[in-house]
Amino acid sequence: MDLLPLLNEKNIVTLCEGMTPLIKSKEFEGTYGLSEVYLKDETRNPTGSFKDRPSSVAISKAKELGVERAVVASSGNAAASASAYAARAGIPCTVHIQRDANPTKLLQARAHGAEIVRVRGDYSAAYSAAFNQANKNNWCNITSTYINPYTYEGDKIIAYELFNEMEKVPDYIVVPIGAGALLYGIWKGFYELTLLGLSTKIPKMVGVQPQGCAPIVDAFLQKKETVEPWNKKIKTIAHGISDALTGYACDGTQTLNTIRRSGGMGVKVSDKSILAAQKYLNQQEGIFTEPAGAAGMAGIIALNDNHLITKKETVVVILTGHGLKNPDQFKKWFSP
Ligand SMILES: *Cc1c(COP(=O)(O)O)cnc(C)c1O
Repeated sequence: MDLLPLLNEKNIVTLCEGMTPLIKSKEFEGTYGLSEVYLKDETRNPTGSFKDRPSSVAISKAKELGVERAVVASSGNAAASASAYAARAGIPCTVHIQRDANPTKLLQARAHGAEIVRVRGDYSAAYSAAFNQANKNNWCNITSTYINPYTYEGDKIIAYELFNEMEKVPDYIVVPIGAGALLYGIWKGFYELTLLGLSTKIPKMVGVQPQGCAPIVDAFLQKKETVEPWNKKIKTIAHGISDALTGYACDGTQTLNTIRRSGGMGVKVSDKSILAAQKYLNQQEGIFTEPAGAAGMAGIIALNDNHLITKKETVVVILTGHGLKNPDQFKKWFSP
C-alpha cells in the first residue's frame, strides 16, 4: 500500500488479482538446456489477463478522485478487465473497442455492463476515440498505455511478487509488448526495489512483438533513438500486442528506452512461432494461453536459438492472457 498511489485504503477496488503462480518450466529446460526458466502465469487473474493489475489501481484511483465515468481503449482484454473493476466500483464505464475484436472479450465487457463503442480500424483508432471522449467530457481515461500513470503502478507489483518468491532477481524478464506499459511497470518495480536498498540488480527486459506489427522492436534492431508508428498493414494473430502506436509513438520510445536502459533486447517472432509456443505451453506445460499470451515463450525460444542468452541465466517469461479468450483457433486444431 505504501508503494501505491492511493491515499485511503477504503478506496481499494480489488477482485484479488495478482499473486499469480510462478511455475518452473522443467520441460523447456530439458528441451533447450537452459538452467532456470520460470513462467509467471498471468492467465490466472480474475478476468483472465494481467490487465486486472492496471485496472485495479486505475479504478481505485478513479474512485478516490470521484470521477464521473471511466473510459478505456482496448483490443479486448483491457475492455473485459476495466468493465469488471468499474462494475465493482460502481463507476460507469465506456469501452472503445476495435470492430474486429475477439467476441469472447467483447462479451465479457458487455456482461459487466460497460457501454460499448465499436471503432472502425485498429487499436490506435480506438485509442484516439477514447482519448477524445475522455478529454471532451472530463472523464477518466484508464487506457493501459502510458496515458494513465496509475496503470503501470499495478503492473509493477509483478516485480515485487517475483522478488519475494524467487529471493533473487532474475537475469531476464521476457514480456509480450503492445505499447509496453507492462514491461515498463515491471522494470519500475525492480528499480524501486533498488531505491529502497532491498536489491542492487535490475533484470534485463526483453520486449517481444509479432513480425506483423513490431514498431518498438524494429526501432531497437535498427538502433534508432525514437519509435515510429507502424505504417504497414497489421498482420498477426496476436491481437493483444498489435499496437501500431499511431498518434502516441512516444509511448513506444519510452518502452524502447526502458529496454536499452536495462541492458535488454527487442525480439520479433512470427505467427507460426507464436502458435508453436502456444502449443508447447498447452501440451508440454499444461498451460492454456491465447496467442499474445504465448508470445513471450516464442521470444525466449528465438533468443535461445540465436544464442542471445546463456544457459546459466535465469529467465522469467510472462504469460499474459488466457486461452479460453480465443477459442476459434483451438477449434481449428482440435475439432474431430
Ligand atoms: C495488453 C496485452 C499485452 C501488452 O501490454 P502492453 O502493456 O500494452 O505492452 C500483452 N498480452 C496481452 C494478452 C494483452 O492483453
